[in-house]
Formats: sequence, structure tokens, C-alpha cells
Amino acid sequence: MPQSPIPVAVLGATGSVGQRFISLLDNHPWFKVVALAASDRSTGKKYAEATRWVLDTPMPDYAKDMVIVPASTDAVQAKIVFSALHTEVATELEPQFAKAGSAVCSNASSYRRGEDVPLLLPEINAEHIQLVKAQRQNEGWSGCIVTNPNCTSTGLTIALKALDNAFGVKKVFMVSMQALSGAGYPGVPSLDIMDNVIPNVANGGEEEKVEWEPRKMLGKFNNDKIELANIQFSAHTNRVAVIDGHTVCASVQLDKSVEPEEAIKVLREYVAPPSARELPSSPRPAIEVRDEADRPQPRLDRLAGKGMTTVVGRVRRDPILDLKFVVLSHNTIRGAAGASIYNAELLVNENLV
Ligand code: NAP
Repeated sequence: MPQSPIPVAVLGATGSVGQRFISLLDNHPWFKVVALAASDRSTGKKYAEATRWVLDTPMPDYAKDMVIVPASTDAVQAKIVFSALHTEVATELEPQFAKAGSAVCSNASSYRRGEDVPLLLPEINAEHIQLVKAQRQNEGWSGCIVTNPNCTSTGLTIALKALDNAFGVKKVFMVSMQALSGAGYPGVPSLDIMDNVIPNVANGGEEEKVEWEPRKMLGKFNNDKIELANIQFSAHTNRVAVIDGHTVCASVQLDKSVEPEEAIKVLREYVAPPSARELPSSPRPAIEVRDEADRPQPRLDRLAGKGMTTVVGRVRRDPILDLKFVVLSHNTIRGAAGASIYNAELLVNENLV
């Protein structure tokens, strides 16, 4: 635990993910928010004036009167910078902050594929954080960029890690039902999504992310590099009329066939590596398995473990592959802001900040 609070900033503080940051950083035991940044539309305004607050918990008092500044290294100086920027903006700005010495914990997809950029879910691949050392050497900067995955990959990959450790995973076929908050605010027009399912997320880009990002996260950290896991993925991604919580139905082929009860035991007993187990945002438990025939459901289960726990249910035999199940993960908490904060805590715990 740090001796005194670490100064942190949020870029994209007014948006869907930015608001989650503001909420989750309220009374954080290690971090103190010193700057909030957004676009020209918002700079110069008080946070409460500039933000259309969409969360169902009140806007924290500490943020209300903070004046929004531009997302530049002149205006924002903080040891840790949380980025909730869109990809194009993040691509340009995040390296500037790393050069200026900040640890950038990013939600954007810009640098997830970088060979020396950790793509982290601490409860499954905490050791990948060591890539930061190679990154600092390669780039010659004192800060760093650390990323969290796309919110649809998050819960699925955590469940797959438990199964891969025990049985080896070979192939994954998945279908997502993704919440509206994943599209930011104002997001998908109501006339498009009411009474409807849209079989396309981010113009198809979502499927490529879900087919690649888990392979990096499940890969082995070897000599300052990640060897991608040799697992094949096929993804269908859909937008549905749910506010928060991404549901994924998955079928997997394993190295050996197993009884559903064995898989349930492995999922239930899964624990994070020691360095990621006792951090302020560590999910408690990492995975919860529901026994009911109709769970998990977004409305009932998305806040398990304060929104950080991955909820799995309907674990059963798959007649074509080996096993099938349903996974639920809160997309703006475990899948976005909570993920970056957990990553930042791991950086601090590993003395990398
Ligand atoms: P959003 O609601 O559209 O918010 C975008 C934020 O970026 C706003 O604060 C906006 O400020 C700010 N911004 C826009 N242009 C800017 C600029 N040129 N300079 C500085 N700030 C700028 O988007 P979101 O859903 O929160 O997503 C943010 C990022 O997180 C994206 O990269 C997204 O892919 C990723 N992500 C989202 C989720 C999710 O569940 N939503 C999950 C994982 C990852 P103004 O209000 O001033 O315009």
C-alpha cells in the first residue's frame, strides 16, 4: 500500500467509461484524482455542468466542481493517467503521456496488439505486466502504456483461463449479447435497438478483437515476449437492449473431454495469482458459478463482486464440441474502468509506478 495517495487523472472523463472512473475512484484507498480531461466541448466547464451523468449512483462530490482541462501533457500531470478516449484520439495522445512519465492505463484498442504492451486481466495474466520493462527500454520513456481488453473478451477469457489451466482449450465458438453502454453515450439510436437485436458491433471490428485478444492474454510470457495461445476462436457479436452487462454463450473444445461437474469445480476454485489477489479492486471471487438453469442474467448478476466478478452458468456438455456455458461480465466496470484501475493497482504493487 502506498504511503500517500498517488495523483491520477482521467482522460475522456465525461463519457460512458469516464463516468465509471469518476465513480470507482471516489474514496479509492490509493489514488487521488487531480485532473479531469475531455474534448473542446467540455474544457473550461465544471464537471457537473459538462457531464450528462448516466449512472444510477450519484455523481461523487469531489468531481462536481473540478474544471475540465484539455487532454494534453501541459494541462494534465499525474503519475497515473486513465484513458477512456476513443481509439483515434488515444492513438495520438497516449504515447505523449507515456513520454511525459505517466503510466497510461488505457481502455482504447490502439496499443493492445503492441508486442511490448501488456494486455492485462490481472486475475489471469498478472505476470504480463513485466512487459512494461521491455517497453520502457524500447521506447526510451519513463512512463508506460498498459491496456485492458475489449469488454466482450473480458469475462470469456477469465473463464477460459480456468478451463485452459485444467484441461487445455483448443477451440472456442462464441455468441455475444452486448449491452448498450458499450457503445458509449448517446450510443445506439433508440429506434434502432428497441424491439431489436443488431448482429453487428463496431462495424464488425468487435469480432476480430474477440478472436485475437484472448490469445494474447492466454499466451505465455517468455523472454520479454508473449507467445500467442494456440487456440482458435469464432465470434458472433450482437448488440441487445440491455443497459449494462455483456453476456456470452460459448462452446469449447478441450484437449480431453470432461464432465460438466469437473469444469464447474475448476471454475469455482479458480483464484488469481498471488500478486493480483489482494488489491483494492481484486474481484472477490474471481469467478462465481451459478447453479440455476436461467442464470446468469445481466439485471440480476452484473454487480456480483461489485461488478468485478465474472459470473458463469449453464455449464453443460456440448454435443459437437466438449463443453458449453454462459458468461456474464459488467462491461463498464470489469470490462472497462474497473479493469484499468485494477491494472494500475497491479503496477503500483509491482513497483512499476
Ligand atoms: P464515450 O461515451 O463516447 O466518451 C468519449 C470521451 O472522450 C468523452 O469524455 C469525450 O469528451 C472524450 N473526447 C472525445 N474527443 C476527445 C478529444 N479529442 N480529446 C479529449 N477527449 C475527447 O465513449 P466510451 O464508451 O466511454 O468509450 C471510451 C473508450 O473506452 C473507447 O476507446 C471504447 O472503445 C473503450 N471501451 C468502452 C467500453 C464500454 O463498455 N463503453 C468498454 C471497454 C472499452 P466530451 O464529452 O467533451 O466530448
